Amino acid sequence: MDLILHGQNAVVTGSTSGIGLGIARLMAQAGARVTLNGLGKPEEVAAARAEIGALMGGGDAPFIHADMTKPEEIRAMIAEIGVVDILVNNAGIQFVSPIQDFPDEKWDAIIAINMTSNFHAIKAALPGMLARGRGRIINIASAHGLVASPNKAAYVAAKHGVVGMTKSVALEIATSPVTINAICPGFVRTPLAEAQVAPLAAKFGVSEEVALRDHLLEKQPSKRWIEVEDVARLALWLCGPGSGAVNGAALSIDGGWTAS
Ligand code: NAD
Repeated sequence: MDLILHGQNAVVTGSTSGIGLGIARLMAQAGARVTLNGLGKPEEVAAARAEIGALMGGGDAPFIHADMTKPEEIRAMIAEIGVVDILVNNAGIQFVSPIQDFPDEKWDAIIAINMTSNFHAIKAALPGMLARGRGRIINIASAHGLVASPNKAAYVAAKHGVVGMTKSVALEIATSPVTINAICPGFVRTPLAEAQVAPLAAKFGVSEEVALRDHLLEKQPSKRWIEVEDVARLALWLCGPGSGAVNGAALSIDGGWTAS
């Protein structure tokens, strides 16, 4: 792979698993110095640090245990890294319930982790990017940043908020060389998403294949998972040459979901 990110510092929030780890992997392969973050189990964190560290030439990758619900920890993480050339706001959680029964603390946690953390990280990292005249901010939103599904009021509100924040900041920095964009994936094959297939199969009394196609991927016209690597490639492209005019975009990668 071309080392298009050689000499650049990247931080990917929530990169101990899933999409964040995939983005960290590809950016490390492209030559970036990647700092990991997340709240994974110790063995999960250790495995991620070893894997990404090996891609960067050996040793453990840097890891900062900042809780995305805590603004001061987010600010401290950006300060500790110092020079941040690429900020990927990826950490996220989900909770599903009709709004009447939606626990207040789940609403607060989803808004804090999935949306407000982006605000604090961008606010902390952007001044340095503007001063150095280079930088890329990528917010991992969702198809749910553009359209809704029932029982996901907090997640849909947070992801719509991320898309709106992305547009607003893009206008503020439009004359600079720094860009900010949102990536809006449909269902991505991560352990978290795959774990939803078996319960659906049991609930509807169908095979896992049918549960995946007709229930989990009901709204995804391709009827196929989006792969982590595909999301990571889009994120990498946004950091590479030729992407400078893409600013404030909400880029769908959803098998046609939001085309309908
Ligand atoms: P995941 O559960 O595999 O990873 C989530 C990451 O966020 C983990 O590293 C976890 O430790 C971290 N995290 C959670 N709470 C945190 C906190 N308080 N502080 C710091 N880190 C925290 O999930 P994923 O499927 O890879 O999702 C990653 C992002 O992609 C999320 O923002 C999610 O909303 C978005 N997304 C996922 C899908 C999908 O189908 N998997 C689709 C669209 C968007």
